[in-house]
Amino acid sequence: MTDAATHAPDAPQMKVSNEVAISIQKMNKWYGTFHVLRDIDLTVHRGERIVIAGPSGSGKSTLIRCINALEEHQRGRIEVDGTVLSSDIKNIDTIRSEVGMVFQHFNLFPHLTILENCTLAPIWVRKVPKHEADKTAMHFLEKVKIPEQADKYPGQLSGGQQQRVAIARSLCMKPRIMLFDEPTSALDPEMIKEVLDTMVELAEEGMTMICVTHEMGFARQVANRVIFMDQGQIVEQNEPEAFFNNPQNPRTQLFLSQIL
Ligand code: ADP
Ligand code: MG
Repeated sequence: MTDAATHAPDAPQMKVSNEVAISIQKMNKWYGTFHVLRDIDLTVHRGERIVIAGPSGSGKSTLIRCINALEEHQRGRIEVDGTVLSSDIKNIDTIRSEVGMVFQHFNLFPHLTILENCTLAPIWVRKVPKHEADKTAMHFLEKVKIPEQADKYPGQLSGGQQQRVAIARSLCMKPRIMLFDEPTSALDPEMIKEVLDTMVELAEEGMTMICVTHEMGFARQVANRVIFMDQGQIVEQNEPEAFFNNPQNPRTQLFLSQIL
C-alpha cells in the first residue's frame, strides 16, 4: 500500500456540488444467466471523489464499464450528465465524450507516439485542428510531468509513465467525469506513487472521479466516499473515516481485515 503525496486533504477546490453527475437507479446486469450487478443505486454529485473497493469478481469493473456504456445493462436506469444511457448510438457517443476512462493496462496504441496517442481522438472524434490538438496534448503531458516523452513510443516508457500518458490522453478529450479501473495494480511499487500523485492533483482541481482501487491510502486522502461491493451489490458506503474505522457489514470487516 502506498501513501499518495501529502497534499492538503481538504483543498478548497474539492467541493461537492448539488448538481448530479451520475444517477443510477435499480440497475441490474446479467452476463448470460449470471446476475453480475444487482439493484445498484448510486448518485454521484459533481466534484465527488468516489473509491470503489471489494473482492475480485464483485462487479466493480462491470459497474464502471456500464457508466460509459462499454457494457450494456439490462434493467434500471443510468443517467450521466443529463443523458440517459440507452442503446442509441448517439447517446453513447455523448456519454463517452463526457467520461474519460483509465484502465489497469494502459491500452495505448503501440505504433503511435505519445503525442499521437493523445491527439488521435481529439482530431478524429472531436474534429479539433491538429495544431490545436498538439497544443492541448502538450499541456496535459506537462501536467502529468512527461512532456519530454512526447515523441517516443509507448514501449520506450516505464509502466508509470505509460499510465500517466493514458491519463493525459483521457484529459485531452476534456471529460467532466473520470473513471479509473485499478490504474495502479499493474505497476511496480515505485511507480504507483507517481500515478496516484497525478490522480490526487486531478481531484484537487475538482474533477468528478470514480476510482476502483485497492490503494486505501489514496482512498483515505482523496475520497469523500468509499463504496464497498460484494457479489454484485453495493454492500456498504461511507466517508473514509467511518468506512475504515467503523465498518458495519461483516463482509466489509472481513475484506478490510485482509487488506489493511
Ligand atoms: P471485479 O472488477 O470486481 O473483479 P468484474 O466486474 O470484472 O469484477 O466481474 C464480475 C463477475 O462477472 C466475475 O464473476 C466475472 O468472472 C464475471 N464477468 C466479467 N466479465 C464477464 C464477461 N464478459 N462475460 C461473462 N462473465 C463476466
Ligand atoms: Mg475489475
